[in-house]
Amino acid sequence: MREIEKDFTQLRLQSVDWEGTQSELHKLLGKMKTAMKDNNGVGIAAIQIGFPVRVCIANDHVIINPKIKKLGSIPQASDEGCLSLPNTIVRVKRKHSIELEYLDENLNLKRQTFKKYDAVVVQHELDHLNGKLIIDRGKKY
Ligand SMILES: [Zn+2]
Repeated sequence: MREIEKDFTQLRLQSVDWEGTQSELHKLLGKMKTAMKDNNGVGIAAIQIGFPVRVCIANDHVIINPKIKKLGSIPQASDEGCLSLPNTIVRVKRKHSIELEYLDENLNLKRQTFKKYDAVVVQHELDHLNGKLIIDRGKKY
């Protein structure tokens, strides 16, 4: 089983844009998918297995070098956990929708709006790319 990063000095890093090749990307995504499934996660960012690049998976959506195009105005709160923070649940307020421009796993440019639970997972993973964690967004309980 692949270890999930729990070291804060690593998790706090700002990830940089992905600039590698398609085959390097598929190797990285393979490792990320394995780590996510082994740990029963619904999302994972590359930083969580030690690679500070802007690559993440959110509910089966592969998202690379995302740019936020539009953030919904309606707030939604839900209880979130994180593979990097065992036994920690935080009530986090996010937006109910988010529109992104990003590269998919074939490095094709995409533009998509994610809503509801998808939007929660996407915003959680985007936070990882910026070195942010759920404990920054609410009280742990
Ligand atoms: Zn997380």
